[in-house]
Amino acid sequence: MASIFTKIVQGEIPCHKVAETDNCLAFLDINPLAKGHTLVIPKPEIDYLFDVQEPLYGELMTFAQKVAKAIDATMTCERVGMAVVGLEVPHAHIHLIPISHVHDIDFSRPKLDLTQEELAAIAKEIAEVI
Ligand code: AMP
Repeated sequence: MASIFTKIVQGEIPCHKVAETDNCLAFLDINPLAKGHTLVIPKPEIDYLFDVQEPLYGELMTFAQKVAKAIDATMTCERVGMAVVGLEVPHAHIHLIPISHVHDIDFSRPKLDLTQEELAAIAKEIAEVI
C-alpha cells in the first residue's frame, strides 16, 4: 500500500506545499513543533532516509538546504534545525524546524494547533522566497 506521503505526492491527499522539484517535495508538517515545521521528502517511496541512493540523496539534501534558507528568512527563529526520525511514516523525510532553543526540536513536546488557514499562510510565505 502506498505511504501517506506517496498519496500526497500523487495528489490524493492535500498538503500545504512549500516547494517542489521533479524528484523532491517539501510541505508543512500537519502537527508542527513550530510555525514553519516542514517535511522534505524524495518523491520515490523509499522507507529509510539513509537507504536513498545517489544522485537522489544529494539532490534531496541540496533541496532541503534551499528550503531551510527560506524558512530561516521568513519564520521567527535563531536557526533551522534538521532531524530525521521516521518512526511514524515509512517514507523517507527530513524535518526542518525553526528553533531558538534546544527544546524547540524535542519531539515529545506538545504540537502546535494551527488552523488550515494559518498553515496555508505559512506555506505561502516560505514558498514566496524560494
Ligand atoms: P516520523 O515518521 O516519526 O518522522 O513522523 C512523521 C511526521 O509526519 C509527523 O511529524 C507527522 O505530524 C507528519 N505527518 C503525518 N501525516 C502527515 C500529513 N498527511 N501531512 C503532513 N505531515 C504529516
